[in-house]
Amino acid sequence: METLGKKEIYAGIAAHNTALNAYLQVVPETATQGGAGPLSGVCVGVKDNIAVAGLQLTCGSKFLEGYIAPYNATVIDRLTAAGATVVGKCNMDEFAMGSATTYSAYGDVLNPWDEERTPGGSSGGSAAAVAAKMCDVALGSDTGGSVRQPASYCGIYGYKPTYGTLSRYGLTAFASSLDQIGVFARRPDDIRELMQVAAGRDHHDATSIEAPSFGAKGFSPSEMRIGVITEYEKNMSAAVRPAYDRCIEKLKAAGATIVPLSFPEYDTVISVYQVVATAEASSNLSRFDGIRYTARAEGCGFRETTAQSRGRWFGPEVKRRILLGTWVLSRAYYDSYYLRAAKVRTVILKRWQEFFRQVELVLTPATAGIAFKRAEQPDTFALYLEDIFTIPANLTGMPAIAVPAGTHDRMPVGLQLTADLSKDGLLLDAAAWLEKNFMDFATIERGCRHDTI
Ligand code: GLN
Repeated sequence: METLGKKEIYAGIAAHNTALNAYLQVVPETATQGGAGPLSGVCVGVKDNIAVAGLQLTCGSKFLEGYIAPYNATVIDRLTAAGATVVGKCNMDEFAMGSATTYSAYGDVLNPWDEERTPGGSSGGSAAAVAAKMCDVALGSDTGGSVRQPASYCGIYGYKPTYGTLSRYGLTAFASSLDQIGVFARRPDDIRELMQVAAGRDHHDATSIEAPSFGAKGFSPSEMRIGVITEYEKNMSAAVRPAYDRCIEKLKAAGATIVPLSFPEYDTVISVYQVVATAEASSNLSRFDGIRYTARAEGCGFRETTAQSRGRWFGPEVKRRILLGTWVLSRAYYDSYYLRAAKVRTVILKRWQEFFRQVELVLTPATAGIAFKRAEQPDTFALYLEDIFTIPANLTGMPAIAVPAGTHDRMPVGLQLTADLSKDGLLLDAAAWLEKNFMDFATIERGCRHDTI
């Protein structure tokens, strides 16, 4: 891995973190100890919903202020055993719910390319830390796009593995059937090296699976059929269209076959996601009851203590999701909402499985546009629409990666590649090919530097 070196990283943190607010906790340089191994010298930023023993684990929430993780997540154990060092805990939307990192209880994260803009979310701190060279690679979590969308807004790579490839043990659950730990990097090969160490079955997580091969097999476009989605093409914004068209031209010129695909259910993905994700969140977050963990607003008895604590320490977006999730699971509405969403999810899965009988990869935009200004944040529901391109990979479990693809209005534009289940190696090979053959280095600086913009 191309590491920057601890000195440069800590100099970057000292210079930029106060302004960007990417890290909520920084491990003192003297306390970091990388070991020997394939990731020796690699400095990792970790989203603050992934447990690192002895460090805080706030999940961006007041509820967990002061809470210290008692054990390591499996991914952290594996990375540190391979010689990597954790340099800090990254800011995030509260409990990973959001698209702009403006729902963190600890302040906004700023986009290193333009401080007026959002870095995206919910893993905005991890994305900003990688883009501003405050770490070599960072971990985030991706339930509906929270790694790929911020990566796209910050001009870096953001990868969500096939569901189960990285153990979720030690990741604070948001929506367990959608959650995957994901990786931010300035180069696709860095992701590959990290995955070779971190992926694979873990007896602490029954949904974990055997690691697929991540070894570089090389990528020859002339052997590839690449799907493009007709419904998306009709609605593409002027911000992403040129990069998307150029990418298709490049792949075609290299011999790839472009295959138009129809995804008639594309406009159901947000509703299906919001029902499934909020239902699972309402159940997962019931553990924050004012009795366990830290914050407690003392009331008279269990019910009142719980109500007081939850009322006081959860932020408005988290409350909204818990209420919605509880409602869709209620006896009167379960069939019309939760069950229906689960059925449509199966239809979407079948549709994407059918795609991968016709093509090896699907190319789409990663986001509808470039990072928006924090002062111009869309309203709650418009913000939910942000995830239209990224959600299918979570609903189906398929691996997907956001790749930088140029700029619009001097801000990065990202595209997304999706592959069939466990074809993560192919996905990273394709991203590496695009990095060499498509990325226009004149228009986008790989890993932008806060002080040079
Ligand atoms: N933006 C999405 C949401 O708010 C995705 C969150 C995520 O992937 N953690 O739910």
